[in-house]
Amino acid sequence: MNNFIDNTWLPSETGRTFDNVNPADINDVIGAFPLSSALDVNAAVSAAARAFAEWRLVPAPKRGDILRRAGDIFTRRKDELAEVMTREMGKTITETKGDIQEAIDTAYYAATETRRLFGYTAPSEMSNKMNMSFRMPIGVCGIITAWNFPIAVPSWKILPALAAGNTVVFKPSDDSPHSANIFAEILLEAGLPAGVFNVIHGDAEAGSAIVEHPDVRVVGFTGSTHTGKAIAARCGQLNKKVSLEMGGKNAQIVMDDADMDLAIDGVLWGAFGTTGQRCTATSRLILHEAIHDEFVRRLTEAATKIVLGDGRKPGSQVGPVINERQREKILSYIEIGRQEARCVLGGERDMDGDKARGHFIKPTIFVDVKPHHRIFQEEIFGPVLSVTKVSSYQEAIAVANDCQYGLSSSIYTRDVSRAFAAIRDIEAGITYINAPTIGAEAHMPFGGIKGTGNGHREGGWTVFDIFTEWKTVYVDYSGHLQRAQIDNY
Ligand code: NAD
Repeated sequence: MNNFIDNTWLPSETGRTFDNVNPADINDVIGAFPLSSALDVNAAVSAAARAFAEWRLVPAPKRGDILRRAGDIFTRRKDELAEVMTREMGKTITETKGDIQEAIDTAYYAATETRRLFGYTAPSEMSNKMNMSFRMPIGVCGIITAWNFPIAVPSWKILPALAAGNTVVFKPSDDSPHSANIFAEILLEAGLPAGVFNVIHGDAEAGSAIVEHPDVRVVGFTGSTHTGKAIAARCGQLNKKVSLEMGGKNAQIVMDDADMDLAIDGVLWGAFGTTGQRCTATSRLILHEAIHDEFVRRLTEAATKIVLGDGRKPGSQVGPVINERQREKILSYIEIGRQEARCVLGGERDMDGDKARGHFIKPTIFVDVKPHHRIFQEEIFGPVLSVTKVSSYQEAIAVANDCQYGLSSSIYTRDVSRAFAAIRDIEAGITYINAPTIGAEAHMPFGGIKGTGNGHREGGWTVFDIFTEWKTVYVDYSGHLQRAQIDNY
């Protein structure tokens, strides 16, 4: 299992490796991957910089043809890749198939966009002159990602970046390297020229070398707010464009007039799907006091029935958490929660049978959580839900907004006026009405405000704002010098 540089599989120049381990069974070692250094990054960036000279000149719809073929190959390899992904990061096969489907959708969407990539024209303020603007590729893009969506999240960045005519050096998380290599195999088979897409495995050392490299012109990052802010600070000093998709602490509000069954299904999926390890996971539940007690009773009853297990086994509904470090972090937050509020479900590891060999944590629910509590404010990134009681719509909104993050949000209500008020009032990049906080679609803008993002949006047409620069063009066919703002006034 190697790095992928210039369409060649290569070990790290350092000879170092790390083990990729199945979080459902720590005795299952998937393979050793390169623990890369700046030397490897230099080789990948050189290849990408060389390839850019040609790739930027390939007509955009022809680049799109390659992406469409990649979508076809992702489709053909979907089942096999889902097995690989579940084995290395734990979520159930149903979810890993959904992860790949997002890449398929993104591939076809990006391919279609290569026939648009619209610029715009505007009338000139002078005679015999035309004004227009074009989207131009930027160069080598450094893509650094987390492990919870090993194919979908990289695809949101890589495929539009390539569609726009850039080349890419991709550093996946060291918790999901195998999926990244299959990503490379698929782009290779689809016909991408050498050097256009490169994969460097490793940890912060390799990630940081990508950020530092002078030929990397754009950094696209998905990960924790802590790391993202450090990368942004460095990109500020180096004057590099940087797009950040960071942490979340997403609230689902349930009002007194909500369809309770629908809202319970929503929170079960939002809070415990992907073992709560989604940037958009529902980690705060804000309940109107009129329905609070019944809601908590019915939610807890339903959550007790969730089946934990190896995501590859039929019947498993929730897999393990990603690794020992994350398991211990979640357990320490559960201890903090016990000091702050009241645990009504879970709160411990599941060590039953084979699960003793993995990092399983039972779905956990805290009630009586107040906005100043740490379990309300801080991203835990595990199957832990905080429930807060409120007495009005205004209080629900104030509580939902009392948070450093601003990625996703949701409100369950049958009152259409209240739903529209919530769309206006909730501070978040995404708001769902009568649906959980998760469920992004490839052709819509995706991203957050406050501590979650830095103003960019992946997904949809907005991602092209990250991976292109505007070129403004004036064509003067008057045959004489026309001085803007001088001769025409
Ligand atoms: P992380 O920040 O620890 O790591 C993310 C990536 O950055 C990894 O590839 C890592 O190796 C690399 N990295 C770490 N330090 C670096 C440095 N100094 N310079 C360059 N690269 C560095 O995050 P994680 O624990 O892997 O992922 C979980 C986090 O990701 C959560 O906070 C979650 O909310 C967030 N996330 C956000 C989104 C989103 O779209 N907003 C999506 C998925 C995950």
